[in-house]
Amino acid sequence: MLEGLDDITFEDLSKFRKKEDAPEYPLVRIVGQQSMKKALMLLASNPDMGNMLLMGEEGIGKATAARGLRDLLPDINVVTECAFNCDPEDDDELCPGCKKTKAKKTKLDVITRPTPLSELPLGASDKIIFGGFDHKGDFKPGIIGKVNRGYLLVEKANLLNPSILDRLLALTETGVHKHTEDDKEFVHAARFVLIATLNPEDGELDVEAIARFPVVLNVKAIKDIEERIEIVRRVEAYKKDPEDFVTKSQREIAAFKNRVQNSRRMIKRADLPKKVATAINKVLKDVNQDNDWIKNALRQAALANAVFDDRLWVTLDDVAEVAEMVLGYRVES
Ligand SMILES: [Zn+2]
Repeated sequence: MLEGLDDITFEDLSKFRKKEDAPEYPLVRIVGQQSMKKALMLLASNPDMGNMLLMGEEGIGKATAARGLRDLLPDINVVTECAFNCDPEDDDELCPGCKKTKAKKTKLDVITRPTPLSELPLGASDKIIFGGFDHKGDFKPGIIGKVNRGYLLVEKANLLNPSILDRLLALTETGVHKHTEDDKEFVHAARFVLIATLNPEDGELDVEAIARFPVVLNVKAIKDIEERIEIVRRVEAYKKDPEDFVTKSQREIAAFKNRVQNSRRMIKRADLPKKVATAINKVLKDVNQDNDWIKNALRQAALANAVFDDRLWVTLDDVAEVAEMVLGYRVES
C-alpha cells in the first residue's frame, strides 16, 4: 500500500481519501440476521449489557453490523480537548489532566462528540493499544484510552494474542487502566464495551475467554435464495455509490437512532418488577447458570429490550426475548 507514496499526486490522494471516508454500510440495511441486529441495537441502548461476541463464518456481515452501530450511537458530553472523553459530570472518573483543570477552574469546558466506536487493528503494538509515556514523560493514550465511554470492535478475536484479549477483557471488567513503565505510573478510566467477532474456521478461542462475554451469538449464513439475491443487490448498490445508498437509508437510520437515544434516556428509570426478577433467578437455576454476573447481564438485556420498546416496565416477554443472547451459547455448550 505504501509503495510509491513519494510520487503520489493530489488526485490519487483525493481518491484515497474518498475511499477512506465512504460512509459505513448501515446496520438497518443488513438483510435478515434479526437477532444480531437486535442484540447490537440493545447494546447501543444499554452498554451495561456488557461485552458481545459474534461468532460465524466469513462474509456474513458480523463486523459490518458492528461498525453500523456508529450511525445509531448517541452523542455524549465530554470535556473539551480531553483525550480520554472524560464525562464532565462524573468527578470520580476524571483523568489526571481534567482533575487538575477542575481544581483550578471548578468548571470544565464541555463539547458534544459522537460516542466513540474504535477498531483494534490486528497486530497493533502494546503502545498503540494501551498507550505509554513519550520522551517528555507525558502519558499518551492508546486505543483503550480514546475509546473510553464507547465501544471497541475486535475482529478475528481468535487470531489476537491471547494475553492482549485477556487484558482487554480485564479492563472491561474493572473500567480502570493502570499503566506502569519504569518508575512512572498513570491511571485513567477505560470504560468501554468490547464487541468481538470470530470465525471458528480460523482457529479456536479459548472457552474461558468466550465465557467472559455475557452476550454470545452464533451468526448463521443466510440460506434463503430470495434473501441472498437481496443481499447481493444491496451490496452492489452500496459499492457503486456508498453516499447515495446511505442517503436513501437515512430515514430508517434516524428512526433507529431515535429509539436508541430514547432508550438511553429511559434506562436509568426502567424497573424490573419483583415477579420478573424471581423468574430470572429461577431460569438461571434451571440452566445451572446461577451467578451474579450472568444474572446482571440477563437483567440488563431485559431492561434494554423494554426501553427499546418504549416501556419502563420489564415483562417476562422481555426476558424470553433476550434469554437466547445471554444463555444460548452457555446452555448449548
Ligand atoms: Zn479528562
